[in-house]
Parts: sequence; structure tokens; C-alpha cells
Amino acid sequence: MEIRKVGVVGAGQMGAGIAHVAALAGYDVTMFDVSAERAEAGIAKVAANLDRQLQSGKIEAEAKAAALDRLTATADAAAYGDLDLVIEAATEDEAVKRKIFAGICPALRSDAILATNTSSISITRLAAATDRPERFIGIHFMNPVPVMKLVELVRGIATEDETFEAAKRFVSAAGKTFIVSEDFPAFIVNRILLPMINEAIYTLYEGVGSVESIDTSMRLGANHPMGPLQLADFIGLDTCLSIMQVLHDGLADSKYRPCPLLVKYVEAGWLGRKTKRGFYDYRGETPVPTR
Ligand code: NAD
Repeated sequence: MEIRKVGVVGAGQMGAGIAHVAALAGYDVTMFDVSAERAEAGIAKVAANLDRQLQSGKIEAEAKAAALDRLTATADAAAYGDLDLVIEAATEDEAVKRKIFAGICPALRSDAILATNTSSISITRLAAATDRPERFIGIHFMNPVPVMKLVELVRGIATEDETFEAAKRFVSAAGKTFIVSEDFPAFIVNRILLPMINEAIYTLYEGVGSVESIDTSMRLGANHPMGPLQLADFIGLDTCLSIMQVLHDGLADSKYRPCPLLVKYVEAGWLGRKTKRGFYDYRGETPVPTR
């Protein structure tokens, strides 16, 4: 089947990024969130990011204008009936995602493909919460979507070849390189990345080093472009904690236990950049370590 119209559910940092690359690639994109205002805010985010790309010479003014023309925001569930592919990119919480699928499925055309951008949750289990496990797939973009080249494609047990092929064509058209991961907790990238971030938080928790010394160590000592705590703030500490919980529950190995300090930050609502406070405080001009 040919994909022309794409829906994105959840207009946060990932939803806005997915809408951005899909609209630039020529797809008509409709954004949904808990309210029309939130979905509109997603479009504003895309507009600001397109501006940045224009200013740095990565795109032309016509491409920006055309992409913005292809973007719509709505709170009307009837709009799902017009879409070929819907990508869910809402909060990393299985109950939230299940509820979203229950709301979307009755409005979708029977041949439409449903995808999730989950970082860690079982694709097979999420697919089972829909009316179309054979047309359900994990399309896991990386953050920030316009910059990062990789997408992980994850088939559930029932995902049909036709769905898989359509997903491959879509991510290739969006300019991404895909790899295929088996449906295991946190797939490939986050299976490796999140335990490292969690270990960096333990290193802080146990007083081995300060926020600054841990991040500087990994930037200058391991040549990582960002320190692990800086990266955790960038991902969102709530998302980091959810992924560690999925690894811990799904693989039943104590090596994945989330660091209590990560739990504490999330309980405080210090979720990183998106709430302006995490391992760094972003409210001033330059980020200041919070420990
Ligand atoms: P975010 O907190 O920036 O955005 C989540 C959005 O979902 C919010 O706008 C929220 O209002 C919306 N939402 C919540 N409940 C909803 C509902 N019932 N219906 C519609 N919208 C709803 O989170 P994010 O970082 O964009 O993450 C979104 C998804 O992408 C998660 O599954 C996450 O694991 C995944 N992901 C995140 C990253 C990352 O680095 N942050 C990378 C890859 C994948």
C-alpha cells in the first residue's frame, strides 16, 4: 500500500520531530495530542526547528513553506479515518499507549498501518491491544529526529511483510537508515545506552564523581559527544526511568535496577530539559549542575 497521509499522536519532542521529517519528505501530516492546543504547540515546535534548519542552510525557504503547508493539528478523532499510517509517539507508559490505541482503532480505515515510537515496550504486547496486530509495527526514531540518522524497525510476532515493507519505504523516504531489531525489551540502542546512563547516575549517587566530573569524563575520556547525565536530561528522566523499568521487568535481571536517584528526580518532577530541571538546571543562561 502507498502511504501518503500520516498521523502523529503525541506532539512532544519526538512527535514534533517525526512530523518534521515526514512533512519535509512530502507526506501530509496530522498531529494529535490530548488537546488541539497541545497539537498546535507541536506544529509551533516544528516551525521553530524548520527555521533553525533554514538559517543553517540545511533546507531552502520553499521546502520549509511546503512542509508547514502539509501540517495540520486537530483534536477530532474522525480525522484518523483519512490516514494511511498513524505513528503513536505519546508518553512512555504502556497504559497511556493502550488507551490511545483503543481510541484510535475504531476510527482508522481497516487497511491503515498503526506504528509506535516506543523506546522499550514490547511491540507484540502493544499490537495485541489493537484490532490489527498484522498491520502494527515499531518505528523507533532517535532524538532529535531531524538530526539523527537511525530508525529501529521492530516487528511484533504478527506483523505482516507488507507492513514491514511499507515501514521500510516510509523511513527511507524520510531520509533515515534503518536497522531491524528483534522485539526484546528496549530493542538495540536503548538496551545498550540506558544501562550506561543508569550506571552514570549510580556513579553520582554513590559519590564517585560530581555531575560535571562524570559528564566531562565520558566526553573527553570516551569521546562521547554528550555526557551521560546531559544525555539523560535531553532524553527526559521520566522516559529513562520507564525504559529501565521495562528492562528490569522484562529481563528480570537485577543489573537493570533503576538507580534510586533517578527515581527521586522523576518524583520531584525534575524531568530534564523539558521541565527546565534535571541533573542540570536550565532556567538560567547556562546549565548549572543540580548536584
Ligand atoms: P514528551 O513528554 O516530549 O511528549 C509526549 C507527548 O504525549 C506530550 O505532548 C503529551 O501531551 C502526549 N500525550 C500524553 N498522553 C496522551 C494521550 N492520551 N493522547 C495523545 N497524546 C498524549 O515525550 P517524548 O520524548 O516525545 O517521547 C514520546 C515517545 O517517544 C515515548 O514513547 C518515548 O519512549 C519515545 N522516544 C523518546 C525518545 C527521547 O529521547 N525522548 C527517543 C526515542 C523514542
